[in-house]
Amino acid sequence: MVAFSSSAKKPDAILPAGKLGRMTVEQMYARFLASDASCNGRFFTGVLTTSIYCLPSCRARKPRRENVRFFPNVEAARQAGLRPCRKCHPDDFARGADPVLAQIETLAAEMRARPGDFTDVKAVVKRSGYGATRLFELFRQHYHATPADFLLHARLAAAKERLRHTDDGVADVAFAVGFDSLSAFHVNFKRLNGLTPAAYRGLGNTNSFTLKLPAGYPLPYLRRTLGRDPQSVSERLVGDTYTAGVWLDGFPAVLTLHMDATCVQAEVEPASRLPLGSNTARKVDLHEAHALVVGLLGLTQDPAPFVRQARTLGFVRLVEGRPELRISQTHSVFDGLVWSILGQQITFGFACMLKRRLTELAGVRVRSDLFAPSRPTSIAALQEGDLLRIQFSRQKADYLSNIARLITTGKLDLEALPRMSATGAERTLLAIRGLGPWSVNYILMRSLGFLDCLPLGDTGVTSGLQALYALKHRPDRAETLRLLTPFSPYRSLATAHLWQLNQPAP
Ligand SMILES: [Zn+2]
Repeated sequence: MVAFSSSAKKPDAILPAGKLGRMTVEQMYARFLASDASCNGRFFTGVLTTSIYCLPSCRARKPRRENVRFFPNVEAARQAGLRPCRKCHPDDFARGADPVLAQIETLAAEMRARPGDFTDVKAVVKRSGYGATRLFELFRQHYHATPADFLLHARLAAAKERLRHTDDGVADVAFAVGFDSLSAFHVNFKRLNGLTPAAYRGLGNTNSFTLKLPAGYPLPYLRRTLGRDPQSVSERLVGDTYTAGVWLDGFPAVLTLHMDATCVQAEVEPASRLPLGSNTARKVDLHEAHALVVGLLGLTQDPAPFVRQARTLGFVRLVEGRPELRISQTHSVFDGLVWSILGQQITFGFACMLKRRLTELAGVRVRSDLFAPSRPTSIAALQEGDLLRIQFSRQKADYLSNIARLITTGKLDLEALPRMSATGAERTLLAIRGLGPWSVNYILMRSLGFLDCLPLGDTGVTSGLQALYALKHRPDRAETLRLLTPFSPYRSLATAHLWQLNQPAP
């Protein structure tokens, strides 16, 4: 069970004090008191009492010297548990002042648009203008992946588009997106999508499909994740059958998964055709359903490099019995957002109750006993009183309504998030009221699939680390950060294992 604690507590330890660049701490504090805009970008200031970080030019009330810390960049401030000021918007400034990130994002967009132009990683390095080592660092930092992994996923995504929207032969598709052998295309496609390219193409006109699971896939752990909310009215696990109300291409539907050790069979029934029992199942386009199930199973994540790293470091116990464990993705990014707000600072059981009541209030009934979850439009249409009546706190009601409105008015583009860099997505989400560092990392990890996230303050992670390192005390934020560092760039996967460490094997 994941526990929640997203409140920005006082950071325990920040940068080594003294100097940052050429300025001393005293000089920086003086420039900060003077709201000196010429120092913007040279350092950022953090205030321990409010847990907020600012530009030196910020006009907000100036805190006392002993409560101020200085950071070289916004990432360092966030890692210390601080969040951006809403008056001076340090992240907006940092984004504009981050030409390296902009270059990497442009390169990533090119790789996605035209993966066939990059014959191999050398071609990526050449195009980037950086040295190989620096480029690897930048991809790890901003995309939580190596350039080779990023290129492979870009190729497969482009191949799926072609299979779906053109009549090109499978071999033509493979070569067009940059594979130099048809067998490499088949092997990778199947491994990360659970079916062959031809079967993927066939998803356009069917009502069921079967995905092959990797050898050793830890189905009992997936079952634990899928069945962890016994109160849910939008998903249900009975034995090895999982049923969920979902949204596909904007329409409600019932998704049923029959799981066994080697494969998962998925069936989709559009809600408009319900009640079930009418036996003339209409064929529908299941590409979106396929993406949802692949996410649920975590198939696009490759756990092998992480497991090798953990074993090499001597953490055999962390991965023992579940080397193929992945991070099951939420049905949608919006579902992840809603859960990250509902779950803040309350018990798991109470969060589940709020979710059930919200679904009953604003979801869509797809079957007598099943709902498709609430969507931004239905939540934006609720009044504050509607949410207070189902036991939302005023603050949670405000956070949730605000996010729903940001989406319905186009200020937050949910479809753009999965294409952003981790850094870009993190900055976008942190600027939203109600999303602190824990919530944002939770969404990056569980809804956007980034592999090196840091859910600092997550009690499941801290108690997992306490057990792994046999500590007598619970690690604080600074220590959590330090103890997780050896698992970079796979800290999300480490988190998935840490969540399991104090529980009996399923
Ligand atoms: Zn400020």
